[in-house]
Amino acid sequence: MILRRLVMLLLAGGAIASPYVGIVPGWTPALATAVALNALALIGLNLIFGVVGMLAFGQAAFMALPAYGAGVLQHAGMPLAAALVLGLAATVATARIVGSLFARLPGVFLAVGTLGFGFVVEGLARAFPAWTGGASGLVFPSGRAIGRDLWYGIAVASLAIGLASYSWHVRGAVWRRLRTIRHDELAAAVLGIDTAREKARQFTIGSSYAAVGGLLLAYYVGVLVPEDAGVNRSLEQVGTVLMGGLGFLLGPLVGAALVRWLFVVAGYGARYELLIYGVVFLGVVIYARDGMMGWLIGAWQRVAPPPRRRSIPAVAPSRERVATKRSGVCLEVRGIAKRFGGVQALADIDFEVRAGEIFAMVGPNGAGKSTLFNIISGIEAPSAGTILLDGRDVTGLAIDRRAPFIGRSFQVARLVPELTAIANLMVRLDQIMPERPEAEREAIALAQLGSFGLAALADQPVRTLSLGQHKLIDLARAAAGDPPLVLLDEPAVGLAADELLHLAELLETLRSRGSAVLIVEHNIEFVAGIAERGIVLDSGKVIALGGIRDILADERVNAAYFGALA
Ligand code: ADP
Ligand code: MG
Repeated sequence: MILRRLVMLLLAGGAIASPYVGIVPGWTPALATAVALNALALIGLNLIFGVVGMLAFGQAAFMALPAYGAGVLQHAGMPLAAALVLGLAATVATARIVGSLFARLPGVFLAVGTLGFGFVVEGLARAFPAWTGGASGLVFPSGRAIGRDLWYGIAVASLAIGLASYSWHVRGAVWRRLRTIRHDELAAAVLGIDTAREKARQFTIGSSYAAVGGLLLAYYVGVLVPEDAGVNRSLEQVGTVLMGGLGFLLGPLVGAALVRWLFVVAGYGARYELLIYGVVFLGVVIYARDGMMGWLIGAWQRVAPPPRRRSIPAVAPSRERVATKRSGVCLEVRGIAKRFGGVQALADIDFEVRAGEIFAMVGPNGAGKSTLFNIISGIEAPSAGTILLDGRDVTGLAIDRRAPFIGRSFQVARLVPELTAIANLMVRLDQIMPERPEAEREAIALAQLGSFGLAALADQPVRTLSLGQHKLIDLARAAAGDPPLVLLDEPAVGLAADELLHLAELLETLRSRGSAVLIVEHNIEFVAGIAERGIVLDSGKVIALGGIRDILADERVNAAYFGALA
């Protein structure tokens, strides 16, 4: 740990001093200043694209906009400080609007929307040359008074502040939340994340980094031309961040340094600019998808492997933390109907599930089970009817707002592969108990894994685990925080015989904690062994409801279900 710190400190000091030492040809204070300011701006794109996975093409426009704003105001006679503040504020406000318009849209539309925004800013710069200087550029004389070394100091300090604020922002619960969104937005919503709001928020924050970096860069360089706001510039930035390494703290710095330095080595010629970008981007995509940082960290870890995992408590935490014992009706489904165009997927569905019972939903393919599940979890809106949870009407409640009441697993487990098992559980706890300290959420997640017999896997990235383990972790996550209702979509699919026994025990544990468990399951034998009551659907209608043995013995059920299977 101390060794790591020392090495980091030495590296940082060396990097800061490097332009004055002159061992790397062409690496001058002037170049390093431009690199640092560019890297500051790219922290934003690294957040938006690298961390959250939103492919935004307008970041160069967010760099140019505040500078155009401030420059125009200054030329109109406004004092420097006021012009800078106003230019920045207007850009952040614009980012908020662009973010709330586009960030919620699927990837392609976000890309095209931000592309359009880039065209608009470049277009405005060209359309009003009287203000913006048009193609010959807007001049910023104020920066000249600041000498070379002071500029370098400003650039290094602002980059350091940028990196520190970024790592303070993107850690713990926020990191887990953003990685979950990046991997799977539907799963994120089911876990309680308001994905549209979160994405818009990160877009605004990221664009603010671009604005500050771009503003400083324009005053440093002293001139701004319309191309600086343009789409080519934005595309190069996407490539630069990719090259540095998506989602790595130092990715933007390493990417910017490499690209700018290569230009200089190639002789400053605009002749070679595209060629360098092109060849380097191709190389990264083919040979190093995790970018320079991914490659460097991989090499470092081979030299100094990271410390191994936490010690696992010898005795799994007991269940004394048991949530308040619940009783009575938990879920009420009243007159639910759903049409898809001409298909009546569900009609007149009425049933209730009580606290502390395992309730099964069975029926042949196409019966409407998944649709009903989706309506209960809020993924789909019913055409008619109401859903009550603990007596409260949740029919119109957004998916993410239902997370405190409903935990759900998926037919195919939807975990975030790069996160550890415990982090996957914590994503849910982060949303439903945000007021608890991180350590407490971690303890609850660990105890939950323990009671599912998974404590030993806590610190393993789930991508290294088997599919059966995925299913169990997904189950543990659904039930984390002891929600009143747990929805399980075919939990037994793909499990071996001994795993089925384990699963039956786990469901019994959930039940005994007072949760109502609603499961969709094809394995009738399994269902008959664990559920007390159930419902049979066929062609969108209830054909049997009641005690599990009675309904499975029902003649109509046999005809519909086993007839269909035969
Ligand atoms: P199950 O899960 O019991 O196999 P589903 O709920 O998936 O059944 O499907 C019930 C009926 O609704 C089927 O006829 C299916 O084709 C139809 N359906 C389900 N989802 C959609 C959708 N998004 N659009 C149109 N039809 C759908
Ligand atoms: Mg289904």
